[in-house]
Amino acid sequence: MLNIHNLQKSYGENDVLKGISTEIKKGEVVAIIGPSGSGKSTFLRCMNLMEMPTGGEISFKNQPLTDRALKDAQINELRENIGMVFQQFNLFPHLTVLENIILAPIKRNKQTPEEAIKTAEQLLETVGLADKIDAFPNNLSGGQQQRVAIARALAMNPEVMLFDEPTSALDPEMVKEVLLVIQDLVESDMTIVIVTHEMNFAKEVATRVLFIDEGVVVEEGTPNQIFNHPQHERTKVFLDKID
Ligand code: ADP
Ligand code: MG
Repeated sequence: MLNIHNLQKSYGENDVLKGISTEIKKGEVVAIIGPSGSGKSTFLRCMNLMEMPTGGEISFKNQPLTDRALKDAQINELRENIGMVFQQFNLFPHLTVLENIILAPIKRNKQTPEEAIKTAEQLLETVGLADKIDAFPNNLSGGQQQRVAIARALAMNPEVMLFDEPTSALDPEMVKEVLLVIQDLVESDMTIVIVTHEMNFAKEVATRVLFIDEGVVVEEGTPNQIFNHPQHERTKVFLDKID
């Protein structure tokens, strides 16, 4: 699904990603863990070209995203297949829940307004917020806003979903409702990449875990390998600290 080869990203003198290579296969649930500032968000943002890599290649379903010959329109079309959910929800505050969800599908000509509304209603049902369809984001709890943000990303019918610490900005009592929605997605065989500090969640749902530190993948493996039998000192130190 996503092929990442020797990915590099620098901001001026700051080399944030120093050559990351990995492959995300269809149906995989890949958890990315690592210390703050290690480049996890940058990695995720490069995957859908919210950030332009400074080196290396990324391809999506064998189509190179990092090919300089690609036109903006082609890049946008590829990106539509990659949904993203952020720590801070990023809903449009002046739009209702429904308007937030139908905006992109209509604008990008993915669906007619009638179809988009129908899809939005179904998605809100799925995330348990059918009764909030006309609410404004500011009148929702953090957990509800994040569930709307997930519904909004799903409205584009993506083939991959990227989550960047989707529960880190939430009060503890709201973490579970969001993780349950993501768990449902896992069970629907969605391909998922999730940056998370929820180690128990990563243990339960991930098919693979990447430990990133200082812009490199230090270690990757099954949850059992990474959490119970880490091979590298840096992985051990990190896991000891968060316990
Ligand atoms: P993480 O998500 O693992 O906490 P980030 O990817 O957010 O790490 O950040 C990694 C490094 O990249 C940090 O040193 C951060 O300051 C830097 N960085 C991230 N985004 C930008 C940006 N837009 N401009 C300049 N530096 C950035
Ligand atoms: Mg981050």
